[in-house]
Amino acid sequence: MKRQIIIFGILAFLFVFVQEAYADRHGYVRKVVIDPGHGGRDPGALGSQSKEKDIVLAIALKLGGYIENNFDDVKVIYTRTTDEFVGLDRRAQIANENKADLFISIHCNSASNRRAYGSETFVMGLHRSQENLEVAKKENAAILYEEDYLETYGGYDPNSPEANIIFSMYQNIYLNQSLIMASLIQDQFRDRAGRHDRGVKQAGFLVLYNITMPGILVEAGFLSNPQEEKYLMSELGQAHIASAIFRAFRDYKNYQDNLVAQQISNNGTITPGGSATQAHLPESPLQNKNIILTESQPEGPVISFRVQFATTSHERAIDDPVFRNLEGISFYFHEGLYKYTLGNERTVEAAGQIQQKLRNQGFNDAFIVAFKDNERISIAEAERYMEQSMKNP
Ligand SMILES: [Zn+2]
Repeated sequence: MKRQIIIFGILAFLFVFVQEAYADRHGYVRKVVIDPGHGGRDPGALGSQSKEKDIVLAIALKLGGYIENNFDDVKVIYTRTTDEFVGLDRRAQIANENKADLFISIHCNSASNRRAYGSETFVMGLHRSQENLEVAKKENAAILYEEDYLETYGGYDPNSPEANIIFSMYQNIYLNQSLIMASLIQDQFRDRAGRHDRGVKQAGFLVLYNITMPGILVEAGFLSNPQEEKYLMSELGQAHIASAIFRAFRDYKNYQDNLVAQQISNNGTITPGGSATQAHLPESPLQNKNIILTESQPEGPVISFRVQFATTSHERAIDDPVFRNLEGISFYFHEGLYKYTLGNERTVEAAGQIQQKLRNQGFNDAFIVAFKDNERISIAEAERYMEQSMKNP
């Protein structure tokens, strides 16, 4: 009997808790947290003349200004307004303590491929490609500037690929709302700001991991690309990016506020899903949209890079001892020989990391090979194709 009471107590508590959480989270958009990445001793990505921390702060302050000037009913909260260091867990805490309705994290990207360019928006989730994982790892590495980061983040080490498995447990209950915001931002970037649209993506970002509200992370552009760095450093470029995010925020707020108002007028209360009255609810901005949560859709031929580390005249089983238990081996047949490779990467740099790993394991002659739609081509050809697709995205 005692046990039943306890269980009932827990259920009642959960019920109240869930109801409250629901009312909170599905409420009107009244508080937004704007999170300029990095700051202080953490510069973020480095361009040839600029630092990510300065550019994203400028964009964030502009965005906050636009929101404050246009919406009397929205409170803007920043995770930082000066060049100061703020830990990733602290940023999430600021958003949670303030019971924010939306979290917008602003970053700039960099890549060793100087041609990479364009804007992309991430939602929290399990990365579905190496490329997305690399972006998350780079942003998560901000915790290396914190003392005791292993303690604070439960032993998470952004440099260890295995550590990212922690995110496979992640259930994004705000995924739908986050996706709406992310896709509205990419719409604005593409259609209004004339940015190259790298798409809506998913990866495990620590800063999004702990927030209890819809949230997205914008990678505004690449500081490693000279033209884009110039654009991102300019007053005009920063205003373009900030106003694109602002318009997306306005559309998100309109949709979300209409949805809540409609649910309240239909039912007198907010009901999950508004099941019986679905027909009267505003149409989701995701309606009729095809969001592919992987990499940007391939444009033209798919170029990939693998690392070749062994060649044999007849086929060997991949569990042959000669392969030393390497995982993920594949082979192709070329010029009369079986050639064994590891990896299937979108960039030479990513393949380079695998090459280094193989060399460390004694495959001293491992080298990078390029493929166009699974057909072997030279590295120079691959780079030409990549250049072309950058010019005609
Ligand atoms: Zn960043």
